[in-house]
Amino acid sequence: MSEKSLCKGCVESVIVSEEVIEELILEAEEQPSLIVSEEVYKERLQICEECPSLQYGSTCAHSGCIVRYRAKFKNKSCPFAGKPKWEKVS
Ligand code: SF4
Repeated sequence: MSEKSLCKGCVESVIVSEEVIEELILEAEEQPSLIVSEEVYKERLQICEECPSLQYGSTCAHSGCIVRYRAKFKNKSCPFAGKPKWEKVS
């Protein structure tokens, strides 16, 4: 299954329900080789939770991504222009 690019344009609303977010996370966890460790995931989310760019408690204002989904993936980084707040994992 391929990774989805979740953004404002591909969900019904920018305010996404907890149920939908949990489904996305479960889907991500079906691809263990692509996702970060639980420790890295928690570190990334802690940074997002303290970031003023987090909208509605779920969505990054820079990418439109649901951070709890995006932060799962090794090949994703924070999209903050010029100075990502968390980086890709190799
Ligand atoms: S992904 Fe980066 S810019 Fe977006 S909310 Fe998280 S820390 Fe902030």
